[in-house]
Amino acid sequence: MKAPPFAYRRVDSVAAAAALLREHGDEARLIAGGQTLLATLGMRLSEPSLLIDIRGIAEMQGIAVADGHLRIGALARHVDVERSALVARHLPLLSLAAPHIAHAAIRNRGTFGGSIAFADPAAEWPACTVAADGALTLSDGTRSRTVAAADFFLGLYQTALRPDELITAVQFPLPGPQRRFSFTELARRHGDYATVGLALAGDVTDGRLDDPRIVYFGVGGTPVRARAAEAALAGGRAEPAALDRAVAELGGELAPAGDLYAAATTKLHLAGVLLRRGIQSLMAEDAQS
Ligand SMILES: Cc1cc2nc3c(=O)[nH]c(=O)nc-3n(C[C@H](O)[C@H](O)[C@H](O)COP(=O)(O)OP(=O)(O)OC[C@H]3O[C@@H](n4cnc5c(N)ncnc54)[C@H](O)[C@@H]3O)c2cc1C
Repeated sequence: MKAPPFAYRRVDSVAAAAALLREHGDEARLIAGGQTLLATLGMRLSEPSLLIDIRGIAEMQGIAVADGHLRIGALARHVDVERSALVARHLPLLSLAAPHIAHAAIRNRGTFGGSIAFADPAAEWPACTVAADGALTLSDGTRSRTVAAADFFLGLYQTALRPDELITAVQFPLPGPQRRFSFTELARRHGDYATVGLALAGDVTDGRLDDPRIVYFGVGGTPVRARAAEAALAGGRAEPAALDRAVAELGGELAPAGDLYAAATTKLHLAGVLLRRGIQSLMAEDAQS
């Protein structure tokens, strides 16, 4: 199907983009990589009369380390994150996750900020951003605010973004030397959205796990942090009994809806499988370091 007709404006500042959003309201959409938006236009799920192309906004580009943080500009493409030496060194969780996002052609155009703004519940970046304690910079061109990733995803495709705001960047605190990461997901075919996925982080010192983050995607309307499972593992050595307790806690924390490919009970079972695999990988990494 062809997209409906729309006007097109290319802007080079956050202020100009936000001003157009205010002027045109719900009739306008930002376009970044276009990898989600153009598909929804083609299927006529959305019929905006104006597309505001934000790819030329310089302040939303780039990946850098400064002031104890890794900063990923909202317009960094998935492939930029995948290939970034800074990301691999400071936040390898993102390097592990990137190859699971769609296919190379989509990763060449889709953006970090676009994925987070769209907030697909089965997408990789939102869960990784929560697991790595990321914070989003949101701007309406005159005022900026910072929102923790954990507070940003409000419900199915619902976020804390106001109608005239853009995500300009995501900041991650640089992890300490004991921080370890693991990323696992199950999908029908490589590159499909995940049936169930898991982003894990934790401090691993002499075989003890502290301050874990267990964040699932594909099992709810938003990334889901499994806090009771975290509590079952925190401060211990992830021995089989503790892992059993953590997996049992998932039953009370995750309420996945079944879909075309997996029933809710199957998804819950797979979440437990991923937790065992992910924690083993996290702890094994410490054994080698
Ligand atoms: C076949 C296919 C398979 C895919 N598989 C996966 C997958 O496995 N995992 C995955 O995570 N994604 C997947 N995607 C989606 C892909 O990752 C998209 O690139 C991403 O979701 C959106 O990024 P974008 O830059 O293309 O955004 P766009 O399509 O340009 O925009 C998406 C939405 O976000 C808004 N937006 C964009 N940037 C900003 C910003 N900076 N501030 C505020 N709002 C903004 C737009 O207005 C729009 O509403 C897939 C897409 C396709 C077509």
